[in-house]
Amino acid sequence: MRGKLIWVAGCAILLSGCAVAAPAPNAGPGPATTASAPGAAPATAPPVPSPTAVATAVGTSAPVATPAAPAASASRRPTAAPAKTPYAVRGIVLVNRQHPLASSYVSPWAGSDPDGLNPDLRAAVTALFADARKAGYTLKVRSGYRSYAQQKTIYTNALAEYDDVTANRFFAPPGASEHQTGLAVDVTNAQDVRGYAFKKLPEARWVAEHATEYGLIVRYPEAGEAITGIAWEPWHLRYVGKEVAAEFAARPGLTLEEYLGEA
Ligand SMILES: [Zn+2]
Repeated sequence: MRGKLIWVAGCAILLSGCAVAAPAPNAGPGPATTASAPGAAPATAPPVPSPTAVATAVGTSAPVATPAAPAASASRRPTAAPAKTPYAVRGIVLVNRQHPLASSYVSPWAGSDPDGLNPDLRAAVTALFADARKAGYTLKVRSGYRSYAQQKTIYTNALAEYDDVTANRFFAPPGASEHQTGLAVDVTNAQDVRGYAFKKLPEARWVAEHATEYGLIVRYPEAGEAITGIAWEPWHLRYVGKEVAAEFAARPGLTLEEYLGEA
């Protein structure tokens, strides 16, 4: 592995141009030990891209393998024509490999929020962070809106860095990243811990326990990889509103695809 790690996963990367501050170097994937995060059962950590993979990227992915067997890589690529507006079920946006966005789609909030976040998402994470602080935890935004072009760079570099199956477990193809919608955010703690290391933090546990109270869900749950096509990402939060989120709170491990009848 060359140099410091970058945080990529299915979602987590920033390019220069993004409003989020550059991170400090961070520990990468650790050894295969039992994590303290809720339900954590990390196995082996796949390789993490080097800084050269995305020259201006920041963050580390530190993807952690899950027990779920990777699907055939071909099935992990977009299967539908890119949509010019986000696909939605019952008013809830669903973006994944089956419902990708067109390269022309830009989040309506890309220019109005420092991280390109939907206002409801911004309000939710603001409240989440404030209450986390009361509980003794500092949380902050690591990555918000990402353009199609940014995701394309990330994905292309991932394919160059990893084997096809691994790359597709941890990196969303362009158009298939929720970050393009402005409805998703990656969070980290005060020390900018991310990826594999973040999964073991008490902050990660606190987020997992409380996110739904703010209308947020952990979009890629640990046991959901076979459905979401993305490995467990406890740092990736998606705004769905409190009413919907409450249903996720009642059904731990539920994926958005299942909830919307799209699994
Ligand atoms: Zn993400």
